Amino acid sequence: MDDLTHPDSISRLRDSGKRVTPERELLLQIIEDHAHLDAEEIYRIAQKERPQIGLATVYRTLAVLKDLGIIRTINLGENHGHYEILSEDHVHFVCLTCGRVTDIPVPRALHKAAKDEQFSVQRTRLVLFGTCRFCTDKSSATTEVTDA
Ligand SMILES: [Zn+2]
Ligand SMILES: [Zn+2]
Repeated sequence: MDDLTHPDSISRLRDSGKRVTPERELLLQIIEDHAHLDAEEIYRIAQKERPQIGLATVYRTLAVLKDLGIIRTINLGENHGHYEILSEDHVHFVCLTCGRVTDIPVPRALHKAAKDEQFSVQRTRLVLFGTCRFCTDKSSATTEVTDA
C-alpha cells in the first residue's frame, strides 16, 4: 500500500543536522509504518512505545519533521491534516466506507497538461473519494462467495 514511501527518512533526519531524539525517531518510524494517520492516531501508537510521551510533544515533533521536509501533511477531506513521509509526488484515493487511503502515482495526463502549459509542478494535491475494492467486494458478497 505504501510503495512510494521513502525507506530511510531517519537518515534524512540525521543529514539535516538536527538531533535524532527518541521521539523524532519513533514518530518517523510510525509514519513510515502507517502512512496517512492524523496526529492523534500517531500519538496513540507512540504512547504504546513510550507511555510518557505527551500530545504536545507529538505535535511539536511533527512540526519539526515537517519543517525539515521529511514529512508532509495532506488534507483528506477532514478538518485536520494527515501525515506521510514526503516522497515521490502522488495522489490519494479515500474510501468513504472504511477510510482506507491508497497512494496512486500522479496521472500522466496531468504531467502532460502541465508541460503543455509550461507549468512547473512542485507538488500535487488531489484526493478522489469513493469505494475501495474491499468494500465493493463486500457489497457484492451476496452474489459472489468470496471472502476478501
Ligand atoms: Zn473501503
Ligand atoms: Zn500518500
